Amino acid sequence: MKDNLLLSPGPTKVPREVYDSLGSPIIHHRTPQFQNYLKEAMEGLKEIFQTKNDVFIMASSGTGAMEAAVCNLLSPGDKAITVEGGKFGERWTELCKAYQVEASVIQVTWGTAVQPQQIKEILDADKDIKAVFVTLCETSTGVKTDIQAIGEIVKQTNAVLVVDAVSGLGVDDLQADNWHVDIVCSASHKGLMLPPGLGFISVSPKAFGLIEQSKNPKYYFDLKKAKKTADKTDTPFTPAIALVIALTKSLEIIKKRGLENSFNHFAKLAQAARESAEALGLTLFTDPSCRSNAVTAINVPEGIDGGKFVKTMRDTYGVTMAGGQASLKGKIFRIAHMGCINEQDLIAGISCIETVLKEMGYDFEADKGVKAAQVALQV
Ligand code: PMP
Repeated sequence: MKDNLLLSPGPTKVPREVYDSLGSPIIHHRTPQFQNYLKEAMEGLKEIFQTKNDVFIMASSGTGAMEAAVCNLLSPGDKAITVEGGKFGERWTELCKAYQVEASVIQVTWGTAVQPQQIKEILDADKDIKAVFVTLCETSTGVKTDIQAIGEIVKQTNAVLVVDAVSGLGVDDLQADNWHVDIVCSASHKGLMLPPGLGFISVSPKAFGLIEQSKNPKYYFDLKKAKKTADKTDTPFTPAIALVIALTKSLEIIKKRGLENSFNHFAKLAQAARESAEALGLTLFTDPSCRSNAVTAINVPEGIDGGKFVKTMRDTYGVTMAGGQASLKGKIFRIAHMGCINEQDLIAGISCIETVLKEMGYDFEADKGVKAAQVALQV
């Protein structure tokens, strides 16, 4: 099969060392050998999550970790806050609905972020709210939420703060403990540079207090069971053995680079993506006050078929970016800078954007985008 450069916001590129590790012979999970990997993975995740809390590893995609948060924390009839500023904020509302949790939904214009004050007003008015569900990087719009400010507000209440960091983890800074985040949900196939198949969830003591009272049905995602087994460096069910072993490899790569360096690296890539888009006369979808460093959302120019543009990049040139979702279908395209995406990948992506835009009749000065990226990246 032809190589395809994945510049989509998940799944993302997998480093060679991680692939190699996935090819190792399978081992049994109830062995000291696997326990060593599991211990290393759980400890390594704590560093990326910036927490001392347990981080549980489950065999699921990111939505599984999100479902675990809702069904473990709450009971039918409980109240929560969700923020709908994109596809993944909507997912929190849908999960609340599925578990009969009454969500106060804050509607936010797509491309902008929720104001922490909006959350405070609802919490002040209703002391019965038990959980606040937000999204670090709203992948569908490229918006980053101010988790630190929201954490300051929620910590003063009995409610817990739950953050979907499925795409933002390891890319946009998220200090779970310092910022008073009770639950962080994430997954393997974005910043952590693995194939899809693992969900992660960190849980604070405050969240465990609520979990003790929860009456919602749960079985596979029961976090009390996860805690009981994790305390013995074990898992309740058969873990995704090969992925957990590969996870230790990707954590090693991230550790070697350092978290602070990673954040700076992705900030630089994001800046280069934005500057090159603007150099081509394109406009950015996301409000400048709240742009995530994980994904850049770019408006498709007038007269260009957005669906065909993304499809041509993928099928003719082997470069996969994402189009827009829901109401943004055909209107934006999204380029990711997360995981092991590097300077050369980004430049290749921008060169492909130029090639296909030219073919489709968009008028711009050739190479201007690539040059802007090179200047921003100093390569
Ligand atoms: N939340 C965010 C912010 C995401 O980007 C995604 C995946 N695009 C999800 C949740 C859902 O994750 P998954 O598809 O792994 O279930």
